[in-house]
Formats: sequence, structure tokens, C-alpha cells
Amino acid sequence: MAGLANTSTAEIQARDARHHWHPFSDMAALNAAGSRVVTAAEGWTLTDSEGHQVLDGMSGLWNVAVGYGRREIVDAVAEALTTLSYTNTFFQCTHPAAAAYAEAIAGLLPGHLNRIFFTSSGSEANDTAFRAARTYWDLKGKPEKKRFIARRNGYHGSTVLGASLGGMAPMHGQSGLPIEGISHIDQPYWFGDGRLLGMSPAEYGHFAAERLAVEIDRLGADTVAAFIGEPIQGAGGVVIPPDTYWPRIAEICAERDILLVADEVICGFGRTGAMWGFETFGFSPDIVTMAKAMTSGYIPCGGVAFSDEVAATLETGGEFFHGYTASGHPAACAAGLANLAIIDRERLVERVATDIGPYLAARWASLGDHPLVGETRMRGLIGAFELVRDKAALERFPADIAAGTRCRDLSVRNGLVMRAVGDTMVIAPPLVISHEAADLIVARARKTLDDLHAALTGA
Ligand code: PMP
Repeated sequence: MAGLANTSTAEIQARDARHHWHPFSDMAALNAAGSRVVTAAEGWTLTDSEGHQVLDGMSGLWNVAVGYGRREIVDAVAEALTTLSYTNTFFQCTHPAAAAYAEAIAGLLPGHLNRIFFTSSGSEANDTAFRAARTYWDLKGKPEKKRFIARRNGYHGSTVLGASLGGMAPMHGQSGLPIEGISHIDQPYWFGDGRLLGMSPAEYGHFAAERLAVEIDRLGADTVAAFIGEPIQGAGGVVIPPDTYWPRIAEICAERDILLVADEVICGFGRTGAMWGFETFGFSPDIVTMAKAMTSGYIPCGGVAFSDEVAATLETGGEFFHGYTASGHPAACAAGLANLAIIDRERLVERVATDIGPYLAARWASLGDHPLVGETRMRGLIGAFELVRDKAALERFPADIAAGTRCRDLSVRNGLVMRAVGDTMVIAPPLVISHEAADLIVARARKTLDDLHAALTGA
């Protein structure tokens, strides 16, 4: 960064504190502590301004699938910006990379999903899906089908609609959300719910899915446009549903003529060991929203795939009054094409399914013997463990202990980025991590658990 190379950490932190308002942050607390200044990244390793190196067990924000510093993406973006820094895709215009990227994504989707709308983020993708689904039912002559059903503790973005579709109570507690027309059913969280109800995971998957049928029937199917869900809830704490859950959800939607929207913003592009989370869980959506690993975070990009039925119906309505200035930005499409080329050439999806995924999962499961761990889980390269105070009774810590936050901070000190969702610790490392890096993740997580145990027991 020209002109910034000799700026001290303290100067950057002071400037940041004065002027930079961070996402999802308590700004007073953050500025009192001072932000960590990240200056470089390569592969799966982040470097900060003090020269510390940390293994990024979270792939940035679940997005850096192919790892940091991939020259071919950088070069593709530079070339795209040099040749065509911008064109809109509104007024009868397209450009070669937008057409090629849409075709490439359609090629990764099942046969009935062929039309891609570009956005710049997952939030915008979900906004698009919502408007498209409602417009679809208008055009079907069923304008009263407007409601969306989502899940408590789901995450679908931070715009007014994204935060409303999401089921995050703290987000709803601010700024008067959710908006009208959205309801939330309970999430399929076996450790936090099904276990306490005394059900096996398989039984619980059916039980949790039936909540959708009950909610649709309560509202009246003739008022419901769609159900939206993440195949695995990421921000909610890597809630991996039992295998019986999604097939039943899909049946319920089909029986009641409700569109099924898969939010693949985290699960898409190989994270779960298949190209899409809906493939891992065996269901077929009508609309798919995506972002994050579409470009591995090199350039912001999101998208929505419409089924042929949805697209054909939207076409009967003439113009769909919806679009973003950056829809199909040349740099994003170039980054996306280069990113997909890496995923394909390095067989990353297969690697997650058959090599690095099972390798890390087996070692991650070994953390289950730790006195602070109540459950471990992993699918592909997305996983979690649950911190508990009493292992035998699987009893959690009181909230004021802030065990998860303390665990996260200790983990960074031990050289591993893990994220805390309450007392659930989550990881989602880049799909390219080596076996040695997987070993390091588990070794550092164990050291962190030992440190936390010592801190909590005063040992
Ligand atoms: N959906 C899911 C499942 C997500 O995890 C996220 C982001 N964490 C979003 C939507 C929103 O994406 P963005 O932050 O790009 O708007």
C-alpha cells in the first residue's frame, strides 16, 4: 500500500478509531481495545502489522475458498479492469465475462437451474430472491402468496430484508425488524433442541421439518410464497441438520405449492463436499442464492439462480424492475471465472469430499474427548464444537462467563482464527488447506481448550 507502509500500528488504529465504523462491532469496546491491523495474507495465513501470523480457520468470512494471494485471479481482474473497467448490464448491454460466468455457474447447477442474476453480495441476492418469488406468484395469478417463512437463528444478510429473513434476535431487536410478511420457525439444532427432547437425530430431523408444515397450514398455503433456508446454518453456529430434515422440507414445500429457496451463500461452491449444500442434503430448490466463494472474496459478487419455471414465469411479466449498478461487474465476473477455473482444475470439491474433508473431520472429532467439549460436528470443511461446563450432563456455561468469546480470543493468541457463536466454536477453513495445516488447526484448537480450561478452573 503506497504511502502506508511506514505507518505505525498505533497510528492506523487511531485513524481507524476516529473514522472507521466497523460491521457488527461494539465500536466503543473495539476502539478501547484497538483493532488488529491485518496487512497481508497468503494461502491460509494472515499477517498483522506486528508480524504475527495466524492460520485463518474461517476463510475470511467463509468466503476465501481457494486461499489468499492467488495470482491468476489477481491477473484476471487486472486484465478485466484494463480492458473494460465498467459497463452496465441494464440497457440491452452485456459483456463477454458476464455471459461466460453466468454460463459457467449454470453449468455447475442441476439441469432445471439455468438463469443467473448477478448482485454484489449475499444480502442483495436474498433481496432479489424475495422480490422474484413474490413477482412469480403475482404472475401466476396468486398475488396473495406473499409471505416468506425462514428459521430462527438463520442468517440471510444485513439489509432490511436480509435481517428480516434472518432469525437473529439481536438484529430484530434493533431498528424495528422484521418487516411484515415474514415468519420464523425453529431451527433444526439437535444438540441445542432435539437432544433435550430425547429424540434421535433421525427422528428429530422429521420433527423439525414438520414445523414448516404446521406454520404453512397456520398461515394458509395460499398466503405463502416461499421457504428460505441455509442447508447448514453458518452464522447461527454451524447447525448441521439431520439427514432426514431437508428431504422432508422439500416434500412439504412441493405438497403445498411453496417455492423453496436455498441460501447457498456459505455452503455453495464446495464447502460441504458437494458443489452445493442442497446436493449434500438431497433436495432440489427453485431458487438458489449465492455469494462469498463465488469469487473467493477477491472482488464482491453475489448471484441468484432461477429455475426454468420461475424464469419463464417472470418473462411473462415483461420488465422485472430490479437491478444493481454493479450487477455483473466485469471485475467480479473475471474474478469469478478465474476462481471457478481453480476449483475445477484443483478438483477442490472432490478434495473436500474424499481427502481433506474426511482428514480434518477425523481429527476434529478427536477434540470430543476434551473435558470442555460437549459435541463436535463437521460436514465437508465446515464444523463446530460445543463448549460445556459439565461434560457428563452436557450442561453449558452461564452466559456471563462468556466462554465462547474467551475461547475465540485465546485461539487467535494461539495462532488460529476460530469464530465463537455463543459457546459454539466454528471453523470453515479454505478448501485448499494442506494436511499439515489441518493438523495445526486441531493442535491449536486443543491448546486453546487447555488454556480455557486452565483459565476457568484457575489451574
Ligand atoms: N446468507 C448467508 C447464509 C450468509 O452467511 C451471509 C453472510 N454471512 C449472507 C447471506 C449475507 O451476505 P453478505 O454479507 O454478502 O450480504
